[in-house]
Amino acid sequence: MSAKPILYIVVPCYNEEAVLPVTAPMFLEKLDALCASGRVSASSRVLFVNDGSKDATWPMISDMAKRDGRVLGVSLSRNRGHQNAVLAGLMEAMDRCDITISIDCDGQDDLNAMDAMVDAYLDGCEVVYGVRSRRDTDTWFKRATAEGFYKFMNSLGAEVVYNHADYRLVSSLVLRHFADFGEVNIFLRGMFPLVGFKSTCVYYERAERLAGKSHYPLRKMLALAVNGITSLSVKPISVITGVGVGFSLLGLAASLWAVVKVLMGQTVHGWASLFCIVCLLGGIQLISLGVIGQYVGKTYLESKRRPRYIVAERTWEPARRRWIEEDE
Ligand code: UDP
Ligand code: MG
Repeated sequence: MSAKPILYIVVPCYNEEAVLPVTAPMFLEKLDALCASGRVSASSRVLFVNDGSKDATWPMISDMAKRDGRVLGVSLSRNRGHQNAVLAGLMEAMDRCDITISIDCDGQDDLNAMDAMVDAYLDGCEVVYGVRSRRDTDTWFKRATAEGFYKFMNSLGAEVVYNHADYRLVSSLVLRHFADFGEVNIFLRGMFPLVGFKSTCVYYERAERLAGKSHYPLRKMLALAVNGITSLSVKPISVITGVGVGFSLLGLAASLWAVVKVLMGQTVHGWASLFCIVCLLGGIQLISLGVIGQYVGKTYLESKRRPRYIVAERTWEPARRRWIEEDE
């Protein structure tokens, strides 16, 4: 092993043909700067993960890999979502390097934070979380929902670093332990704190996307939030149990009151209150069933133990179906 750590920058890409030509040179430039400053080994690489893009993303990546030895690429067999794409990249990188930094490919995260991340690693940290110090460039709505989500997660007892997305340095030591977390329902930013080891945060300002558009509309953000909560916490089930007990006690009191009323011969009105109670309880029961259903559904998905992603191609392996290319 070389005296300096080998760094792999892992970049998930989904339909990013607009932004890749802008940001790929930036990643390479940063990699060179990190090598030149003596922080990381010259064998460091940028690893792009093509998450089943439908545009020219993968041809672009494989082309770059052919022209530039510092670029590697893997292509997943289909779109599996951001979290699985990052996981695929980390698992591919794990045995080839000492440290990984995962970062989105849209240029929103400040590359200069990597210096401080690597320094923190050299100081003994195994995980370094990139944390946004400001969210001015996000819309008001995205900011409010995202911040509400972090607060909600922490109140449910799931440890999530505030304002940290998936810009993070993780050492291969931590990744090897992380590989034992076999769950299908993954929420990386909440799972790395569970692995433990010494960690710290590095703060940076988040910029606008350099090109293309976000793949995280409200629908996907909600799905990520539900996934995060159900993957990290079972507290909602206890909350439901608590609410159930509370309402049962109230119901008991109401029944006693009703018996007293009957005995006093004042029964006919009260239709309205009964109606309200039935509606209220019906609603609560349905919500509770829904929450429990979420966990049952997740258990079902986990029990199948399907692969989280399938790597279809790697730029460092000979292309399959080479005879087709040769015929052309
Ligand atoms: N991404 C991915 N698979 C997906 C959706 C997104 O690999 O199904 C990648 C995308 O290319 C980008 C990163 O995940 O590098 C973050 O996506 P995006 O910038 O659209 O999300 P936002 O920053 O708006 O939350
Ligand atoms: Mg983005």
